[in-house]
Amino acid sequence: MKFDTIVIGGGMAGLSAALRLAEAGQKTLLMASGQSALHFSSGSVDLLESEGDPRAALPAFMAAHPDHPYSKVGLTNIEASLADLQRHCHEQGLPLFRQERNHQRLTPIGTLKSTWLSPETCACVTEAPAPDVLLLATIEGFRDFHPALAAANLATHARFAHCRILTGEIRLPQLAAFSRNPHEFRSADIARLFDKQQHDRQDLLTDLAREIGRMVQECGEPGCRHIVLPACLSLGLAGPRLAELEARTGCTIKEVATMPPSLIGMRMQEALKRRFLALGGTFLTSERVLGARYDGDRVVGVHSQNGDDQLFEADHFVLASGSFFSRGLESRLGGIREPIFDADVLSLPERDAWAGRRLFDHHPFMGFGVKTDDQLRVLRGGKPLANLYGAGSVLAHYDPVREGSGSGVAVATGWQAAGHILAGV
Ligand SMILES: Cc1cc2nc3c(=O)[nH]c(=O)nc-3n(C[C@H](O)[C@H](O)[C@H](O)COP(=O)(O)OP(=O)(O)OC[C@H]3O[C@@H](n4cnc5c(N)ncnc54)[C@H](O)[C@@H]3O)c2cc1C
Repeated sequence: MKFDTIVIGGGMAGLSAALRLAEAGQKTLLMASGQSALHFSSGSVDLLESEGDPRAALPAFMAAHPDHPYSKVGLTNIEASLADLQRHCHEQGLPLFRQERNHQRLTPIGTLKSTWLSPETCACVTEAPAPDVLLLATIEGFRDFHPALAAANLATHARFAHCRILTGEIRLPQLAAFSRNPHEFRSADIARLFDKQQHDRQDLLTDLAREIGRMVQECGEPGCRHIVLPACLSLGLAGPRLAELEARTGCTIKEVATMPPSLIGMRMQEALKRRFLALGGTFLTSERVLGARYDGDRVVGVHSQNGDDQLFEADHFVLASGSFFSRGLESRLGGIREPIFDADVLSLPERDAWAGRRLFDHHPFMGFGVKTDDQLRVLRGGKPLANLYGAGSVLAHYDPVREGSGSGVAVATGWQAAGHILAGV
């Protein structure tokens, strides 16, 4: 089985590379062993933590960090990659919000986190003034969003000093069966029921709208018109469902990512996957790549857990297998390793130096990862493999948490790796 390019990894980096390659007409195979960080993330794309426009801060940041993946992509290409992501998401009915500086998204515990792109359905603080009254509501029995905690934290934020933050609980008898088993009362279970009922033309949404009306009436604030709900109303596109709910209630309704699993991230993954398939790409899930065959400095093919002796061959390869979280990197007693290609990995010899002492200290291991040359070609034995490119959180020299650059790096490096491949063919 021969492809133009095989992308290993179905997260933000792999999808970004695969979309660009497929759109350029390449016969592209994406192999993913399982879930990606998107299943646990907010679905927002962090570019760089910065007070003003992060694009204006990037040149100085890159100059100060010459080995950083952003420095290997460059500002123009970073911007082009994010514009492409917006275009693909928009195409799939998942418009992304951005302004000329970072906005802040509401987290499930009511803190505000700086980010660059967010699905338009998300509760975000923008340049517009915060409302005078805000109602944070959850569904009775649901454990993964606690309005009282979120409200207490949000109230400490200066932007909300004037805002009356109320909390409420929605009672939906149709969900009572779930509450017998808390393991089945997750965002995905609730969303599945909403999706099914809409399909079966039963109307859970009508009951939800009625419950929102009741909460608004009982809260004693006639001006209460802004509601935030946990993201659990659809596994697919939530935009149309929220719009319908807004039409029925006369309120503005936004959603907040819950504790994992995060439907907002999962929807983005699904939207990008749909787009890739529509562009003619091939997506193999549950396909863990185990190793590769080489011819000199070139990768000839890869083999997988389920593929028996089959070699998946291609002219080019992209390694986008993620960090420790997705097992793109492995931490063993003997050190850090990249398990598929045994690529060169940046690490520290002294294990005691890998992590800071306290949770919020700087943790050097966050910057560990696969080394590449300036063209993102993966190094092995000190030399670049000619047709293997690295992308995303498998890469060295970037710390998504400290820099606030997580998905931005993934999108930009995936896009750039694809660009190098297309330039070379
Ligand atoms: C829990 C969590 C939450 C985050 N939240 C955010 C956020 O809200 N915003 C933000 O900007 N950044 C966030 N980040 C940072 C994150 O690293 C990036 O956002 C980005 O999503 C990483 O994408 P990736 O494609 O590089 O890796 P991943 O998303 O980890 O994807 C790696 C993929 O490779 C596959 N894979 C691994 N090994 C193999 C193999 N051997 N064979 C085949 N497939 C393999 C995995 O199954 C997976 O599909 C978060 C990170 C984590 C861990």
